[in-house]
Amino acid sequence: MLFIGLLVSLYIAYGAFQRQALTAGGAIWAVVVGTTLFGLGGGVPGLALVAFFLSSTALSRHRQAEKERRTGDLVEKGGQRDAYQVLANGGPAALFALLYGLSGQPAFYVGALSALAAATADTWATEIGLLSKSPPRHLLTFQEVPAGTSGAVSESGLWATLAGALFIGFLTALEPSEGALGRALVVTLGGLLGGTADSVIGAFLQEQRQCLSCGQATEQKRHACGGETLVIAGLPGCDNDAVNALATAWGGTAAAILWALLAR
Ligand SMILES: [Zn+2]
Repeated sequence: MLFIGLLVSLYIAYGAFQRQALTAGGAIWAVVVGTTLFGLGGGVPGLALVAFFLSSTALSRHRQAEKERRTGDLVEKGGQRDAYQVLANGGPAALFALLYGLSGQPAFYVGALSALAAATADTWATEIGLLSKSPPRHLLTFQEVPAGTSGAVSESGLWATLAGALFIGFLTALEPSEGALGRALVVTLGGLLGGTADSVIGAFLQEQRQCLSCGQATEQKRHACGGETLVIAGLPGCDNDAVNALATAWGGTAAAILWALLAR
């Protein structure tokens, strides 16, 4: 299974690199994450990873120019995912698959699937929320803020969170086994918890930067205008990728604990 996982991961990561969906570093880590998930988790976690990646890539390219216009130079990165983004989204799931491979505990298996559901829910929410007709509201102030602001939610973004979690949750039900429906529900719940945690952590912990040159608020370390930026609020170093990793890990952990409790 490890070897099949390696082949499938190499094939997809190379294709994604050629189509500029992944940077070279992103593609290398995608192979590591994919091989671990496929090799130690099996076909369904592997399939969930592929479903996450293909749906996220398609969504981020959907009306991409319009979304880039809407966020301006507020956020750091475009459509091409780098090593940090791959690890933030796929790393927790791969760790759960590794724990599952070492221990054989089904809760870790559910954790891996739920971490992927959380990554999917969050990515769908971001990509669809950016196209929301009404501007998002910040979770701390409830004020309307520009599209793309971390820690803000929009109505369409919340529906997308639910849809992304359900998508992966019910994909796992394709594997016929006892308790498959219950597992699908727990994975969906883990996805929802992780997807919403992303906005909450983004609102309370994520570093906020301001350009020293033009004064604009941004997530960029060096502003598009060329100016240096400085952390003015939040936890320094807690950037978008760190928030993503925390939220994804939380979605997987919550679902794994719930599954372990239910199985008693
Ligand atoms: Zn600037």
